[in-house]
Amino acid sequence: MFRSLHMKLVLIMLLLITSLMTVVGTFMMTNITGFYIDQFYYQVDSVFGSSNPANAAFVNTLRAEAAQTDGLHTIREMIEAKAGDLGLNSNTRTFYILDGRTGMFLDGSGDRKSFERLQATPNLLTARSSVAAGSALVGAESDITANYMDVAIPIAGGENAYIIYIYDNRSTVNDLNSQLFMIIVQALLVGLLISVLLSFLLSKTMIIPIERLTERAEKVAAGDFGSTITVESSDEIGILTTTFNDMAAVLEETLDEVASERNKLDTLFLHMTDGVISFASDGNILTSNPSASRMLGREVSFYDYDALFGQEVPLQKVMGLQRPNFASRELTVGDRILELYLAPVSDGEDGGVMAVMHDVTAQRKNEEMRKEFVANVSHELRTPLTNVRSYAETIRDMEDIPRETENGFLDIIISETDRMTRIVQDLLTLSRLDSGRAEIKMVRFSLYDAIESVCRAVDLDAQRRGHALVRLYGDTLPMITGDRNRLEQVMMNVIGNAIKYTPSGGGRIEVDAGVCGKNVWIDVSDNGIGIPQKDRERIFDRFYRVDKARSRESGGTGLGLSIAREIVMRHHGSIALTAHDGPGTTVRIVLPIRQKEEGAV
Ligand code: ADP
Repeated sequence: MFRSLHMKLVLIMLLLITSLMTVVGTFMMTNITGFYIDQFYYQVDSVFGSSNPANAAFVNTLRAEAAQTDGLHTIREMIEAKAGDLGLNSNTRTFYILDGRTGMFLDGSGDRKSFERLQATPNLLTARSSVAAGSALVGAESDITANYMDVAIPIAGGENAYIIYIYDNRSTVNDLNSQLFMIIVQALLVGLLISVLLSFLLSKTMIIPIERLTERAEKVAAGDFGSTITVESSDEIGILTTTFNDMAAVLEETLDEVASERNKLDTLFLHMTDGVISFASDGNILTSNPSASRMLGREVSFYDYDALFGQEVPLQKVMGLQRPNFASRELTVGDRILELYLAPVSDGEDGGVMAVMHDVTAQRKNEEMRKEFVANVSHELRTPLTNVRSYAETIRDMEDIPRETENGFLDIIISETDRMTRIVQDLLTLSRLDSGRAEIKMVRFSLYDAIESVCRAVDLDAQRRGHALVRLYGDTLPMITGDRNRLEQVMMNVIGNAIKYTPSGGGRIEVDAGVCGKNVWIDVSDNGIGIPQKDRERIFDRFYRVDKARSRESGGTGLGLSIAREIVMRHHGSIALTAHDGPGTTVRIVLPIRQKEEGAV
């Protein structure tokens, strides 16, 4: 309850008022009592005090009267004459004339009974013992805490000794004090009421803005940057409010920036091709991206570190690495080759491990293909070079070589040289197509004319081998966009292969074409040796040949179909073997009818 600032303020005000009134009240009451006592002794001193010479005469007269046998009456009259100076006319103060030796009541303004009710006070006792000494005043002091004040004046004269005893029961000052007490209590109550009202007023000017500030701070802490607080004053609270508003604005801006950066990172994390998994120090997965599950062929969030990579590098070993060191391994998952990098995230107990996987399957395959390609090129060139060299050496070393034999050898040398030239030319074409340097000139041309021109060119060769070249396409074929020369080169290669790989005599080579949607298709079928199932996939690879000897015999380089595929792909088309019943082969080329004309594709 007293934890709120408002209640604390009320409490402080109450305590303040109460303690202030208590101090003031006590101070006043003590001072009033003190003043009353001082006043009493001042009055007594003004009559009996030795400082005033007139008093000495008065006291001496009293002593002289005391020496008389009937002096008591005169003494009483003399005291009564001084009643005004001694304040005896108030009903709180009484004087008694006592026998100096016995302390018995003799006379006075009070009666015997009232005297007997009084205690034997220290002043009275002292006066009795000092009567003989003739002291003037006894007991000029009174205890402030006592409920009376008194003074005893011994008067000794001749044989007689009297004590004039003045007693005040302090009821005046006590009444005054209780009145004062009541006033203070009333003032206290009013003060308390005012303090409560004041504290409400203060809370309006001080605590309400602080409460508003607190409320907004709570909202900001919960991420709600909604509205700003209105600054209503220019005091410290006003400055605090302005500063808080500024701080909230900066915080919102910073958080927005952080959130935006985080979004970017999340998007990157989600769509990056590398697989990323972060593990806590106990091996549980904290985050992972879809690529990680795809690469490992399973939903990684169901596993932990030990199940995924425990076999490769133990978790503790990775955690023990000093950053920026990391562990790397090569993993084979199914037909994928993955490079795995494992690094500690941060030192200490709240650290973890970050695993990054990079798919290097294509890279490795490319490396393999490159090695294979280099080996193939070397091999393809070495064979004709060896032939050329051995025939040339034979011609050089043989004496009396018959002219016919020499010509035969020279023909072989020329044919091998031609073969090497063809290989080099094909390699150059492929290299240009690969690097994009080969220009593809897109123009509109008649597909029918192009196929016809290729068929006419190979017809003679087909006839020579005893094949029938059957043209199934009609003259209604559309105009298409493409590089006519290069597409004719593709068709020449495919039809040439059909002729080459069909045993001489009785072969039937069919060329057909048509339109299918936005594309045209060209089919080249033969009833030749066909291509075994296992080789069908690789037939478009560089230097791949089903029967190397046969291909070489027929002058093939093993690069024709690779070049064909590159050209067709540059036309955004496709070339593939079509599955069909019976022996022989069908190759289908599909090309878009329309595409952007002119310029390199
Ligand atoms: P090549 O110069 O050896 O003919 P290609 O790239 O044109 O090279 O063809 C690759 C291989 O595909 C050939 O060596 C041959 O084994 C096979 N091939 C291509 N066309 C046919 C076909 N119509 N019939 C049988 N085999 C074929």
